[in-house]
Amino acid sequence: MSPDRLPIYDLERALVAALGAGNRVVVEAPTGSGKSTQIPQMLLDHGLCDGQIVVLQPRRLATRLLAARVADERGARLGGEVGYQIRFEDVSSASTRIKFVTEGILLRHIISNPTLRGIGAIVFDEFHERHLYGDITLARALQIQSKSRPDLRILVMSATLAGAALEQYLTPCSRLVSAGRMFPVDVRYLPRPPGERETVWASALAAFEETVRAGDPGGDVLVFMPGAYEIGRTLQAFNTSPAAKGFVVLPLHGELSPRDQDAAVSRYDRRKIVISTNVAETSLTIDGIRLVIDSGLARMARYDAQRGINTLLVEKISRASADQRSGRAGRTAPGLCLRLWTERDHRDRAAHELPEVKRVDLAEMVLMLKAQGVSDVRAFPWFEAPDAQALGRAEQLLVDLGAVAAEGPITALGRRMLAFPVHPRYARMLLAAAERDCVYEASLIAALTQGRDLLLRRTDSRVDDARADELGEESSSDFLMIMRAWHYAEEQRFQLEACQRLGIHAQTARQVGQLLDHFLRIARQQGLSVVPHAAPEDAIGQCVLAGFADHLARVEPGTRRCELVHGRRGVLARESTVRKSPLIVAADVREVEQRGKELNVLLSLATAVRPEWLEEMFPDALHDGVAVRYDSVDRRVVAESQRLFRDLPLDRRRLDPPPADAAAELLAKEVLAGRIVLKEWDHTVEQWILRVNGLSGVCPDLQIPSIGESERQSLIEQICHGVYSAKDVKQRPVWPVVRAWLDGAHVQLVERHMPERLELSNGRRVRVTYAPHAPPSIAVRIQELYGVTETPRVARGRLSVCVQILAPNQRPVQITQDLPSFWREHYPKVKQELQRKYPKHEWR
Ligand code: ADP
Ligand code: MG
Repeated sequence: MSPDRLPIYDLERALVAALGAGNRVVVEAPTGSGKSTQIPQMLLDHGLCDGQIVVLQPRRLATRLLAARVADERGARLGGEVGYQIRFEDVSSASTRIKFVTEGILLRHIISNPTLRGIGAIVFDEFHERHLYGDITLARALQIQSKSRPDLRILVMSATLAGAALEQYLTPCSRLVSAGRMFPVDVRYLPRPPGERETVWASALAAFEETVRAGDPGGDVLVFMPGAYEIGRTLQAFNTSPAAKGFVVLPLHGELSPRDQDAAVSRYDRRKIVISTNVAETSLTIDGIRLVIDSGLARMARYDAQRGINTLLVEKISRASADQRSGRAGRTAPGLCLRLWTERDHRDRAAHELPEVKRVDLAEMVLMLKAQGVSDVRAFPWFEAPDAQALGRAEQLLVDLGAVAAEGPITALGRRMLAFPVHPRYARMLLAAAERDCVYEASLIAALTQGRDLLLRRTDSRVDDARADELGEESSSDFLMIMRAWHYAEEQRFQLEACQRLGIHAQTARQVGQLLDHFLRIARQQGLSVVPHAAPEDAIGQCVLAGFADHLARVEPGTRRCELVHGRRGVLARESTVRKSPLIVAADVREVEQRGKELNVLLSLATAVRPEWLEEMFPDALHDGVAVRYDSVDRRVVAESQRLFRDLPLDRRRLDPPPADAAAELLAKEVLAGRIVLKEWDHTVEQWILRVNGLSGVCPDLQIPSIGESERQSLIEQICHGVYSAKDVKQRPVWPVVRAWLDGAHVQLVERHMPERLELSNGRRVRVTYAPHAPPSIAVRIQELYGVTETPRVARGRLSVCVQILAPNQRPVQITQDLPSFWREHYPKVKQELQRKYPKHEWR
């Protein structure tokens, strides 16, 4: 289709009119309409703005391809009238009028150019994807437009209907909508869920083969896979299938070389099968697709604010994404979409993806906002606000790094960090390197961590051996090992074969070199010395620690299990070359899905840490502590003295005996929970407590302290004091402690007024039973009560005792708190009956 016949041209006149009337426009049109490639050209060709037209793109791959396409359409050289800039690559010049940039680029640019001088229009492309930097940059652009740049054009483009929220956010704005031209797409689901063991590439191939057998719609094929790995496996599978014979099979993802990326969007005289990540969902249009095979999965970056780690997990895409993907089949003719999941599964999926602002690490963005004077990020006019917890985490990290003062504003150090277009952690590391004279090494480390891994993971034993020979097997830092590998690759001039011998990704190595130069250039501009000169390993380790102190971990001796700061746990990556060091700092902490589908927190890019460094660099974060716990297996209290970095114990030493108070408290808990029984805590003790509490309640004037739950606990703690095991606790004397709870005078009062035994008026002594929430009671045979006319009383006469009157056979005949009325009313009848039964007893 030639560009001037693209559906977006239906909106051309409306666009000109809208920009005549205002400066904010929303453009909604389906993927392939021509938004990304044509709208910037319309702005330029109609002279609709003074200055550069900056087009924000969420993906690097699309940024480059779109710029190349537009340059091509205009017959221009890339970097001339049309250019692009992504994080570490700037292909533009003073004559560039249309500039495609990834989203972070512009936000950084605002720091040094707060009024956006020289920029006439900002086009937010793919806004429906709701990437973090898109959201923020739009908010900032609107602020700048209303404060100082009323002439600034702001266009927001989206492949789906953006909805009322966006329009309201942008008000006053014009909205241009094109329905596009779509052909029907027949969407099919799997009849039943794929088996547990069936891989997603096998399912994709099976679906393809079946469709080819039954007669496919013709045209090209687009297969969506979650990432580079799955794309590689799918490629293999398709290349070995007879059904794919006659097709060109091509991968498309961000880690490919520009040439391979171009290959996927080129035309061929044969039919093609493109196996792509979600970059082909809406960012890029591949013409001629009639069959889409969708795995329904995407690799999704998330940040777990609770644990402070990044996760990169394969997740099910939303229904909205699935619809975008199937739409790729109906651009030029009716198409077919095979979804590799069931219809039922589809119904259970989320309607939309969560926007990035709700799911990624906010640290770099917060630092950039603060640098622009937004010190209270909570009050920022977000299109959609992030979670308070995630924002708090980001601010905390920046405070930890010294980039932001505790009250909010950016520090001088923070401003210096911003010079480096990397995550604040790496920026901090680079500045720490300036103090230790190892900026070259730190820059190399930073360069090595921005893209894909330099060392391939799945290697055979030949490569492993060659690596061990060339690089060594153990090291004080994984970075040193990777740096050695990179130096090797550089010496070999990034030659493919030499690199392959050590399993080094040659193209990555080359890119690292460019990035290194880029960082060194910035460092030089910042006045740092960047001469490479074999810096001591310790200095390098300290720099890493400066950026990642909250990733400090203690490795359990003899294992790869780690305990991290903030109470987290994880496992050191198998391929780490740091061995035997009990303390490490991991530059990469992430939750990954292992083959067995189990979730694991994996620590990689480790560096050994010496405790002295912590003392020297973070004196305020270190303190001593004692940990005491009850070992329920040994049934005893054990204690360790610890040196802690924040909450992470660095070393532990057994403390014998444990601190007595803490031990007593732990043992008391066991006793109270019934797991240890005090032999001497018997009925008499319980009765005593009831007597004390009874008297205390009825005669408050006596000021006898009662024994409630907490007093009971204190008593048990006293009993446990000085012993450490369940065995010793059991035998402890109880009574002396319980009795000593009251002073001597109070003890006497209890003995007298809540007596253990009561003397009746006829001189007999009987035992009194005390119970909670009931009067004290005695049980007496009738004969023993003769002569007792009044109800007995305790507690200085304030409590009448409940009398259980027993027959000669010890069975109760009456329970009463009113003895006179018993004698008067009941006794005559009772006597008559009993006398007959027990004639031998005395009856008065
Ligand atoms: P939108 O942004 O609305 O999705 P684009 O402007 O990206 O649309 O694409 C419009 C059309 O331009 C596509 O349908 C395709 O025909 C063509 N096109 C865009 N980029 C390329 C490219 N790199 N190679 C070939 N054709 C392209
Ligand atoms: Mg587009």
